[in-house]
Amino acid sequence: MDTTTACIECVDDNLIRARLFHIARDPIPCRTLVYTLPGHQKCTLHEADDFIAQSLEGWGYSVIREPVQVQAYRRNWDVEGHATYASPRPSDPWYTAYNVYGMVQGSAIPKELIVVISHKDSQSWMVNTAGAYDNGIGTVANLEIARVLQGYTPKRTLWFVFCNEEHTPWTSAVTAQRVKDEGYTLVAALNVDSLGGRSAEDQRAGIRTNATRFVTDEGERIADLMARLNEELGIGLRQTKHRGEFPNDDDGSFIKAGMPAAVAMVGSFPYAEPNYHLAWDVAELVDIENARMATQLALATLLHLDENGPV
Ligand SMILES: [Zn+2]
Repeated sequence: MDTTTACIECVDDNLIRARLFHIARDPIPCRTLVYTLPGHQKCTLHEADDFIAQSLEGWGYSVIREPVQVQAYRRNWDVEGHATYASPRPSDPWYTAYNVYGMVQGSAIPKELIVVISHKDSQSWMVNTAGAYDNGIGTVANLEIARVLQGYTPKRTLWFVFCNEEHTPWTSAVTAQRVKDEGYTLVAALNVDSLGGRSAEDQRAGIRTNATRFVTDEGERIADLMARLNEELGIGLRQTKHRGEFPNDDDGSFIKAGMPAAVAMVGSFPYAEPNYHLAWDVAELVDIENARMATQLALATLLHLDENGPV
């Protein structure tokens, strides 16, 4: 059995589920700067940061917390009566949000970098909502990849990044700037968001999906690599690729900063999970098996890129 097969078989449904419930139910019900549990000292987002940082440290990674000033979104109501986000006013309060990094230096080509990035915050415009698909599941998938790779000696430098995009501005822009400032060549940034989130129809049919969204030719080659690995390794996802119209989300932060090898892995595109940004996006409804399969695909992609370099 080769290294990749052995590694992806270590991805553990039970650990993914346990960590998802930990950060999207109990003891941490949501992850925002504007909600602190009664009697607690820290807001729920900072409590989630502690959980993430302690996990990464326990697996031997170098951990840094990078402060970024952000505001919470305001709340609007759309035509269907759903709460949706709205820009903050200039006079609204500012908070310190942190990018949390787990890092391991490459043993052969340390100035080439592979990033797995996921936003860890839940919707700042709604009080105490779990954000389980969006993006508790991507957060714990990113952690699971880091766990499986503890003790692995990468050729290239690896960063596991936990950022914030349900507050504004998106803190992944600061990560992208750090990559540039520190002189890395970005081999790939894999944005892991809302894994397994898909239409009610696909859920009923038991179809397990992953969509890779790209906007650059470099991104399309990563999407094609994912399709190939899904087949070769028998992961079993219905894997699709989609060209986005413009750079968006946390992968878009890298592209906007001049680093084109960035893609998003999401459950579906356009995103079709019926509870998106609603109070019912809860841990109980997340398809852990679908998320595990997408986590395996992200891990296999990382290992391929670390072994072989840019595609
Ligand atoms: Zn969101």
